[in-house]
Amino acid sequence: MTTPVTHDPLEAARVLAAGGVVAFPTETVYGLGASLEHPTAVRRVFAIKGRPSGHPLIVHGADDAILDRYATSLPPEARALAIAFWPGPLTLVVPRATRVPDTVTGGRNTVGLRVPDQPLARAMLRALGSGVAAPSANLFGRTSPTTARHVMADLGEHVDLILDGGPCAVGLESTILDLSEAPATILRSGGISAEAIERVLGRPVIRTASGPARAPGMLAAHYAPRAPVIVTTRSELVNALAGMRASGQPTALIAASDVAPGDPSVTVLHPSGDRPEDFAHDLYRLLREADAGGATAILVVPPEGEGIAVAVRDRLARAASAARPDDR
Ligand code: AMP
Ligand code: MG
Repeated sequence: MTTPVTHDPLEAARVLAAGGVVAFPTETVYGLGASLEHPTAVRRVFAIKGRPSGHPLIVHGADDAILDRYATSLPPEARALAIAFWPGPLTLVVPRATRVPDTVTGGRNTVGLRVPDQPLARAMLRALGSGVAAPSANLFGRTSPTTARHVMADLGEHVDLILDGGPCAVGLESTILDLSEAPATILRSGGISAEAIERVLGRPVIRTASGPARAPGMLAAHYAPRAPVIVTTRSELVNALAGMRASGQPTALIAASDVAPGDPSVTVLHPSGDRPEDFAHDLYRLLREADAGGATAILVVPPEGEGIAVAVRDRLARAASAARPDDR
């Protein structure tokens, strides 16, 4: 049986309204969605992914009205950040309204809210009229999907419908900002930088998730392809390649186009451009290509600097730590 694929957001909304599970595109990655009106469908999302039930899901809505509908005692900064960045890749963690089911929040008294910047997703959410709880549409712990084909490969017939919106524009998960306690804390870096948030708030934010209480599901080992990921730098690359050659492992290298290993035994995969945004956009696709090409080790030279490069390095560090045997 093959999973139905559509380009029609209204069809996706109908399946969600009937209690189905729909994979849908956002500007970050593809989500695996269930309507908040159907807690049984939300439970199916956890089952399909193999995701532990304590890991909360982000609630997606068509516009800022989700703040009034799904949050309570709203921190004043939430409205300003929503105006500045929604639709866009910023998730706000705020005190939850009672109508948000426990299955979505893992029993917590907060909820993560976001308005995605993707025309099909917004049309679907607008037609549905209720929030959609959605994690990334991949198996738990693995690389997030950035095309409908990736979703099909990972979750195939377990999903009722895939809404195909083409490749995701950003390619990495949203920035998660916790506003439920002061000071505001970034639980996960993403498409909206800490600096951009600080400019709107007019004061500094904490940049790291501080332990499981504030960042459930932010495991060190996550976002991983099958082959171990080894993060290196331009200056260390020669040594890293020599190490791989000595081990005799089929190796892939993901790096900007001006990084040339000069080693025919290494499969080189370049992002489609040299900006950090291009690296973010193509990273998950290239990790999948490295796996599919049979590499048993993946060397990566990530971009330097601030902005989305921070999120690229964050995901690669997690993918690399997933590969360490002592983390399994
Ligand atoms: P995913 O959609 O798979 O990228 O994961 C969503 C992540 O959002 C979770 O693993 C949590 O870390 C985070 N998240 C969602 N809701 C909350 C919340 N209420 N409090 C803290 N973190 C949250
Ligand atoms: Mg995920």
